[in-house]
Amino acid sequence: MKYLILLVVVLAVLWYWRNARGADAPPGGPRRAGGKAPPQDMVQCPVCSVHLPRSDALPGPDGQLYCCAAHRLRAQEK
Ligand SMILES: [Zn+2]
Repeated sequence: MKYLILLVVVLAVLWYWRNARGADAPPGGPRRAGGKAPPQDMVQCPVCSVHLPRSDALPGPDGQLYCCAAHRLRAQEK
């Protein structure tokens, strides 16, 4: 009987812990099941200084990487 009470207490703690964690990170959210996403190489737009993943950046004719076509165009106009 003593172990049954202990088991119930352990299950209650686990249930409470899962609910507390689920409040800010719902299961099945944006995070993938395999764990963390691999780190991405970040680049900075020379026009607006915003940081973005290299895969999302637009390469300009001068070899610079821009956040969008408008900033690539603006850099060429100068
Ligand atoms: Zn920009």
